[in-house]
Amino acid sequence: MSESSPTQEQAAAPEPAKEKERLFGLLDLDARFDLTRFRLIRALLKSRWMPLALILFNTFMFMIILVATLLGGFSAGNYNFGIMLVWILWWVLLMFVLVPVFARAWCLMCPFPIFSDWFQRRRLINIGEEPKKPWGLNRRWPKWLKNMWLMNVLFLVTTFFSGFLTVRPFATFVLLGSVILAAFIVGLVYEKRSFCLYLCPVSGFQGLYSQFAAAEIRRKDDAICKAHKKKTCFIGNEQGHGCPWLLMPFKFEKNTYCGMCLECFKTCPHDNMAFNLRPFGADLLVDTKLESKGLDEAWKAFIMLGIAVVFYLGFQGPWGFMKDMIRGTTLPGFLSYIAFHTVFCLAVIPGVFLAFCWLSKLASGNREVPLKKVFTGFAYTLIPLGLGVWVAFSFGIILPNGSYLLHIASDPFSWGWNLFGTANFPWTPVLTGYLPHLQGIAMLLFYLFSVDYGTKLARRIYPEPAQAKRGFVPILAALTAVTFLFLWLYMG
Ligand code: SF4
Ligand code: SF4
Repeated sequence: MSESSPTQEQAAAPEPAKEKERLFGLLDLDARFDLTRFRLIRALLKSRWMPLALILFNTFMFMIILVATLLGGFSAGNYNFGIMLVWILWWVLLMFVLVPVFARAWCLMCPFPIFSDWFQRRRLINIGEEPKKPWGLNRRWPKWLKNMWLMNVLFLVTTFFSGFLTVRPFATFVLLGSVILAAFIVGLVYEKRSFCLYLCPVSGFQGLYSQFAAAEIRRKDDAICKAHKKKTCFIGNEQGHGCPWLLMPFKFEKNTYCGMCLECFKTCPHDNMAFNLRPFGADLLVDTKLESKGLDEAWKAFIMLGIAVVFYLGFQGPWGFMKDMIRGTTLPGFLSYIAFHTVFCLAVIPGVFLAFCWLSKLASGNREVPLKKVFTGFAYTLIPLGLGVWVAFSFGIILPNGSYLLHIASDPFSWGWNLFGTANFPWTPVLTGYLPHLQGIAMLLFYLFSVDYGTKLARRIYPEPAQAKRGFVPILAALTAVTFLFLWLYMG
């Protein structure tokens, strides 16, 4: 009997079992719970009324918001239906529940692109035969702009006017009106949801933080997708439209650009799409080619962190002069705020982070690993931390101001109505004595996620475990310093 060659032995040997990665050493990061296993949920996701019914409801609500903000003009914002609904209720829901738990669930029900969808498709509900050529110019978005940079800039520019948006209804009217109009105009020229993918100011941070979310839409079984040559989830069929977000539902790996529109549930003839619940943050470990990644997502994370600092100082901090600058009490003050805000978000924070990444490389002792890989890789640690900062900030919005919602629900246009008997409900801050504690708890909780994912990312960045351990120390110091900074800001 001839001895088998080493190569044959290797081929015959079973692959060594891949060690499972666990969140906090406990929860298997590959664990998924597919909600479509429940027939009712499956039927709901496949219905053409889902998410259309939610979009129509929100379109109605946004029409009321537009009317209220237009009528409100330059009056005080805290008694305006539009301001309270957008900047208190919607923002807090977004940061507390929609993004951290359900990823881009807001995009699922967002009314902004409804008019361009309607125009391009020439139908709102039924599909019939997919139109051969959608209405509009249907152009491809320029390749060099297929990233988050435009959204980064637009979001930053929007925050320049935050001091007006939250107190002057007309400013909110202009912003919302512009977004709805821009979504429509872009839809006339560019294909499908190009506006959502590359322009919407709300899209960038949802895409970034949805990587942390506890939900995802993914294919169930690769083999079924490979065998299904027609790829109806991408091209569409008589049940639904091809992915409006230009993704390939049969192979995408991260939440970032999936708008959760649910079309692929309708167009897959094999019911091979899943709506999974999963451990928080599972997407943070998905990118493997870190050195070839663009820097747009990293800058989005820096910008979100910078905005949180500036917003805290301007809206919840003790320094009145900062409030005056953001609210544009004087032109020089307002311009100084814009200059500081821009340099702080675009240059100071990334510069400091780069310095810590350089220290990380130095501490690791690995000279070969590209600094860009260390920078883009560890930038993912800022996603849980940044989200925590915004959750903490949102406590500072809802607890002192939530009671205004009762007033405006009863009298949305300030016409003296009392629809639900709550029009005269006085301003009542709720649990504000516990506010610093809640903010502190949120910060610490999300810090722990950042640290846990940081250790895992270090093992992807550096080839040797010892290098990963040493290389993570400066990043741990940076994450801890940022956490202490916000604990100091929030808790004093
Ligand atoms: S990307 Fe913007 S416009 Fe598009 S669905 Fe999401 S929030 Fe709405
Ligand atoms: S993969 Fe595309 S079609 Fe499916 S839910 Fe996401 S955006 Fe919609």
